[in-house]
Amino acid sequence: MSETGRLFVVAGPSGAGKDTLISKVMKAGGVHLSVSATTRKAREGEEDGRDYRFLTDEEFDRLVEQGAFLEWKEVYGNRYGTLREEVDEAIASGKDVILEIDVKGALDVKAKAPEARLIFVMPPTMDELETRLRGRKADTEEEIEVRMETAPWEIEKGRNEFDHLIVNDDVERAARELARVMGR
Ligand code: 5GP
Repeated sequence: MSETGRLFVVAGPSGAGKDTLISKVMKAGGVHLSVSATTRKAREGEEDGRDYRFLTDEEFDRLVEQGAFLEWKEVYGNRYGTLREEVDEAIASGKDVILEIDVKGALDVKAKAPEARLIFVMPPTMDELETRLRGRKADTEEEIEVRMETAPWEIEKGRNEFDHLIVNDDVERAARELARVMGR
């Protein structure tokens, strides 16, 4: 067993079910889920420091200038970034780290840290993806349309450039597959 942890990046279309799969794998312990910084406003029920570090544009700018981000991207009109220090510390302490970030950010991480394993979570069908997006009631009609339009590009990248592809057709089965891919 290695003493340092490994880096896993989980990406896939909004609504593919990444959160659920990750939270199931986290239950076993020994895994750190990186808390990204964002300029997006907190949604109801979200907590600063737990779900995201919610920052102003100026605070985010400052961190960009300081080189604090392993990667950052604008996603659906807001900026999101992975904090380098948090990831490095967790890995150094022997924990495996999961980044749940967008596809472009994932490819950026791979370019900077080739040892990172990229895991793509796929919805079983596009119809199912739309049903899930509507079911979670987090997005406006316009946002749902943008997410559905973005999905085919993301899926193409997932198929061609990621290390593992998990079809989330059955949550329990897909969660076991994620655990296996992470060597757990
Ligand atoms: P949401 O606003 O719904 O929480 O997230 C929107 C998108 O931003 C999701 O695709 C999520 O994976 C992505 N995202 C969250 N944190 C980061 C990050 O640190 N970097 C990048 N590149 N994307 C992120």
